Amino acid sequence: MPVLENIGNLIDCPAEVPSGHLLKVEDAALVWDNSRILWKGPRRDLPARFAQMQRVDAGRKLVIPGLIDCHTHLAFGGWRAKEFEMRALGRSYLEIARSGGGILSTVQATRVATEEELLSKCLGHLRAMVRLGVTTVECKSGYGLDKPTEFKLLRVYRRLKKCQPLKIVPTFLGAHAVPLEYQSDRQGYVQFLVEEMIPAVAAEALAGFCDVFVEESSFTRSEARRILEAGSACGLRPRVHADQLTDGGGAALAAETGASSADHLEFISQEGIRALARKDVVAVALPLASLYLGSKPMPARKLIAAGVKVALATDFNPGSAPSCHLPLAMSLGCTMLGMSPAEVLRAVTLHAAQAIEMQDSIGSLEPGKEADFVLIDAPDFTHWLYRLPPSTVAETYLGGVKVWDSSEGN
Ligand SMILES: [Zn+2]
Repeated sequence: MPVLENIGNLIDCPAEVPSGHLLKVEDAALVWDNSRILWKGPRRDLPARFAQMQRVDAGRKLVIPGLIDCHTHLAFGGWRAKEFEMRALGRSYLEIARSGGGILSTVQATRVATEEELLSKCLGHLRAMVRLGVTTVECKSGYGLDKPTEFKLLRVYRRLKKCQPLKIVPTFLGAHAVPLEYQSDRQGYVQFLVEEMIPAVAAEALAGFCDVFVEESSFTRSEARRILEAGSACGLRPRVHADQLTDGGGAALAAETGASSADHLEFISQEGIRALARKDVVAVALPLASLYLGSKPMPARKLIAAGVKVALATDFNPGSAPSCHLPLAMSLGCTMLGMSPAEVLRAVTLHAAQAIEMQDSIGSLEPGKEADFVLIDAPDFTHWLYRLPPSTVAETYLGGVKVWDSSEGN
């Protein structure tokens, strides 16, 4: 039963603290046992029953809850640096997609990659993420678009759960794009997803969520509704890639289908914002995609003003967001989305946990929750986001076990 003490500042945003505010405890201590938090508070108030426990010195560092990246496309074959160059020369995302690039080029590379190759590449990404203070990662399939490859991706996620420490939350995204072999038979692909793929994924418990890319270049609202309802019928909770490139009514669909989150929302309408607020659907901001595509960001202030819970994630993928740097996305949350540092911390902890329906076990440092936390070498949270110097995450803990220590360089 260790006691982490000599914490410079413990920063948290539990549900009882109003949005836009942080709970800040100076000279704090944190106690956990068997992976769960038992107590937190000022060191001087440490209960006597913990006095004889093993002490761990935080060296006056900042302690925050483990960061949750609630939207990634972690497993994929190849990269798409050429498209980065094409966009720099003025071609749009949709133009590149229509000319055979985009998602479908990654589908080709992913179909030929072996499961071992994909696993080893994912392990590299996760090692980079834990050094940035990330402790939970939502991972979508969607670069297979056929049964063997979608299953290969989901099996990689199942193996990752067992062979490395970060928490992995798999999502089935067979409705990422219509694959080349179904280009003249869209309805055939939707039918394949609804009648074959979704029941098979659910039967093997390979994913907890079903996601659909609702966009001009991917799936219409009515196709998406059919897919999400089929997922729900099999116990896969709905999530939606909504209103990224155009206002396709994806946010309203997310609300109608009871989705746990609507993600992107760069072009969300006022009506869509009201729908999310009514149904308490978490809006997931993905500012790295806006940065890379040179497009406008989600109107986070309008969503927050309407009472929508805003989360924030990387959207890590080889096309529109080839960086898994969640702290950078958090900094962009302040500079591009106009969110305060307090709103940003909540967006990558408690709200991100709600987006993946894990708010009862992670997302804040409260007794009973997992002891997932990060030690940061910065005087306070705002200072960290403002400067974002390299390697400021000193230590990362998952379930009370240290899984990254910068001083050991492992
Ligand atoms: Zn995405």
